[in-house]
Amino acid sequence: MGELDGTTPAVVLVVEDDPNIADLLDMYLRQAGHRPYLASDGDRGLEIFAERTPDLVILDIGLPGRVDGLEVCRRLRSDSDVPIIMLTARDDEVDRVVGFELGVDDYVTKPFSPRELMGRVKAVLRRSGNAPADPGRVVAFGQIRIDGTRREVTVGAEVVALAAREFALIWFLVDHAGQALTRRQILDGAWGDDWIGDERTVDVHVRQLRRKLGGDLPLETVRGTGYRLG
Ligand code: CA
Repeated sequence: MGELDGTTPAVVLVVEDDPNIADLLDMYLRQAGHRPYLASDGDRGLEIFAERTPDLVILDIGLPGRVDGLEVCRRLRSDSDVPIIMLTARDDEVDRVVGFELGVDDYVTKPFSPRELMGRVKAVLRRSGNAPADPGRVVAFGQIRIDGTRREVTVGAEVVALAAREFALIWFLVDHAGQALTRRQILDGAWGDDWIGDERTVDVHVRQLRRKLGGDLPLETVRGTGYRLG
């Protein structure tokens, strides 16, 4: 996965029950040179995921049957950090927050323009393929070891599965250790201009990092500002 960028062909799993949207995504992804696989329900999506190990998953949140989009996400995240873009309806705010907590990398609200979605696809693939800062660095805090080359975080002997967005966040914080950063600076710096989001997104991801990395992470909440690492 190391060399992916927006122009490298990627295997993309699309889990979407609306055939019109699925066909449209199929067409746009092919035009961009990617290899899409389509699933119209969650079970099938998980099967294809196991068969194809895609580079990216585009996941509709509202799927028929017993395995909805959030459940697919939960199962994928139990052993994979594949980038996930979630498709949501306009009033799915709660589901979006749950999605971020489950490790979704980005979301697109329906109705969306295919062009917008393809922009997100490109950005997410680029993020997942490139370390955002000096790739040679390894940083340690107590039991936590953050390896910029391998984009890998370990706590003790255990590798921690981080979503692409979570790694981008921790690496941005590492890069600005000692500085109090506003949520806006973190949004812009860690995730870039392609990210249009709510500042609470930062809090959700910080909560995730704290939960996953545990007590050795010297990440403080700075009242009235945002966060500071170290
Ligand atoms: Ca649907």
